[in-house]
Amino acid sequence: MSANLYDIMQDHFRDKLDRPAIVTPEGGLWTYGDLDNLSARFAGLLRRYGVTPGARVVVQVDKSVGAVALYLGALRAGAIFIPLNTAYTEDEVDYFLRDARPQIFVCRPEGEEQGERLAAGAGVPFLKLMDTSPDECFWAEALESDPDPEVEDYEADDLAAILYTSGTTGKPKGAMLSHGNLSSNALTLLKYWAFEDGDVLLHALPVFHVHGLFVALNTAFLNASKVIFLEKYDVALIRKYLPDSTVMMGVPTFYTRLLAQEDFGKEDCVNMRLFISGSAPMTAQVHREFEARTGMRILERYGMTEAGMITSNPYHGERIAGTVGFALPGVEVRIADPDGNILAAGETGVVEARGPNIFEGYWQMPEKTAEEFRDDGFFITGDVGSLDEEGRLTLEGRAKDLIISGGLNIYPKEIEACLDAIDGVKETAVIAIPDADFGEAVAAVVVPERQGSINEEKLRAVVGEKLARFKHPKIYHFVDELPRNTMGKVQKNLLRQFYAPDDQ
Ligand code: ATP
Ligand code: MG
Repeated sequence: MSANLYDIMQDHFRDKLDRPAIVTPEGGLWTYGDLDNLSARFAGLLRRYGVTPGARVVVQVDKSVGAVALYLGALRAGAIFIPLNTAYTEDEVDYFLRDARPQIFVCRPEGEEQGERLAAGAGVPFLKLMDTSPDECFWAEALESDPDPEVEDYEADDLAAILYTSGTTGKPKGAMLSHGNLSSNALTLLKYWAFEDGDVLLHALPVFHVHGLFVALNTAFLNASKVIFLEKYDVALIRKYLPDSTVMMGVPTFYTRLLAQEDFGKEDCVNMRLFISGSAPMTAQVHREFEARTGMRILERYGMTEAGMITSNPYHGERIAGTVGFALPGVEVRIADPDGNILAAGETGVVEARGPNIFEGYWQMPEKTAEEFRDDGFFITGDVGSLDEEGRLTLEGRAKDLIISGGLNIYPKEIEACLDAIDGVKETAVIAIPDADFGEAVAAVVVPERQGSINEEKLRAVVGEKLARFKHPKIYHFVDELPRNTMGKVQKNLLRQFYAPDDQ
């Protein structure tokens, strides 16, 4: 067996080929044998189109079983799989194609014209269309072609994928991930989250992002689990399938939307063993309310495109709201100041991580890569946090979101937590705005629970009581909702642009 992730997966489900791998609400059922066969057909097809080991396959398609089989087929063929967010515009895709220079670009049928333009412009040899059903598209072509069961004989450091980061803080960067990065992380999670025979994963995340593609699918496939595969998050469908599931992975908005349903509770979760949250911070209130309603404590973990999963609250042991838990086995986490001096427990600084999960660098950005690594191999995550004496990590936000006012560091999360706890506040985002006297000042963007459920005076009164003066927001803005990207992440860069006063 090689270190190819597909070899490792196959080794795990080899004796379970008749088990269901993927089921869909439309009644579709693919066993592990079916998935193995379909991915072998895709592997053969990719090879026929000249995809040799190391060639890139860029894919911007809707979530479907075909897309999953294409991912597995790419692993088998030794291609570098590059899934793109379906929300990307023509200009953005143009950038990614020119950056990645793939052998094949697979896009949605409705994007054919644009795809042709882009492929021609970027010199991509083949354009293929992929629909959500196996009709007249690349999926159909795979079904009609011969399976090629060969799995490329790979070492752990051979590349499996380039995943672009979510672009929350700027232009997305292509993180090069090796077979070893992906397999080590998935195998660790399999154990750490105590996956067991018979687990059923409810899957409603996109499959172009680390969370839905690698954390969810790689782990489920290594466990030969059934995946209930929803095209997207739909609260009614989630509630329909939750009782048949044992594990769900989601972003925080998955959970807030469930809680918004008044009759959501214990009966929805009869067979559930584990709710996992990540990709964006979950407030302590949501943790508590979820537990009060369902009797279950959400397990929050922390990771990123460049590193897969880094820390996790324990499966056995206490899950603490507001913390993201311990470094995963095999992963080291430390806190450092900007100069790289390692800080003690309780001190706040930038999170650095090292381990077999950490990526191989940014695609075609050697300088950026060099900047983000310390000499001893630790990756500088750009997230700010602190470790307690036991090694639990608490995140305070991103270094880029840090507010420096009059020379003092202000962590937005502390102010957000204070505001979020006030009755009548749904959620908040605290950002820096330019300030003539202090360099930066604090601004709070507040979403009220209901129209008029909160006013500035009340907020100022509570903040005045609870937080030191230099942390008080200078300005409050009231909005109906916060801008979020497809992963549910609040786009503070947009808020900063929007609220930065023009005259400063
Ligand atoms: P970009 O790097 O392009 O700005 P991004 O960092 O949002 O985008 P991802 O790799 O998708 O792209 O997200 C990783 C980031 O998500 C982490 O660095 C961290 O800031 C945040 N994150 C992930 N899990 C959690 C969590 N449980 N709590 C708080 N933040 C989290
Ligand atoms: Mg990032």
